[in-house]
Amino acid sequence: MKTDAKFLEERKQELLKRREELLSELKEDTVQVADNDYSAKFVDLGEKEDENAAEVALFEKNLSLEKTLEVSLYNVNRAIKKIADGKYGICEKCGSAINPDRLKAFPSATACMDCKRKAL
Ligand SMILES: [Zn+2]
Repeated sequence: MKTDAKFLEERKQELLKRREELLSELKEDTVQVADNDYSAKFVDLGEKEDENAAEVALFEKNLSLEKTLEVSLYNVNRAIKKIADGKYGICEKCGSAINPDRLKAFPSATACMDCKRKAL
């Protein structure tokens, strides 16, 4: 596939920006435990019953946020690596080119629309 250098550079900038956003969101609600591994933050609000309940609710919120952010970060990092490897924009499932409009809307896409639809 012949890819437009300008198109790739634009996607790369978007991905780098997205990575910064994800990292700062992760910093707020999680604690980094290892490379690419984050743990939801547990905030100690106090010892009263309602405080404990609030702690659990907050932890659960951070936990689901952590998973979402971690997966997004993983995908963004993978897409950035693909640009470097010259494999960006190729569907991981069928090997055909992913529609550029899809990549514009969703720069970390790893599958084409056809495969995505089949997977659902
Ligand atoms: Zn495909």
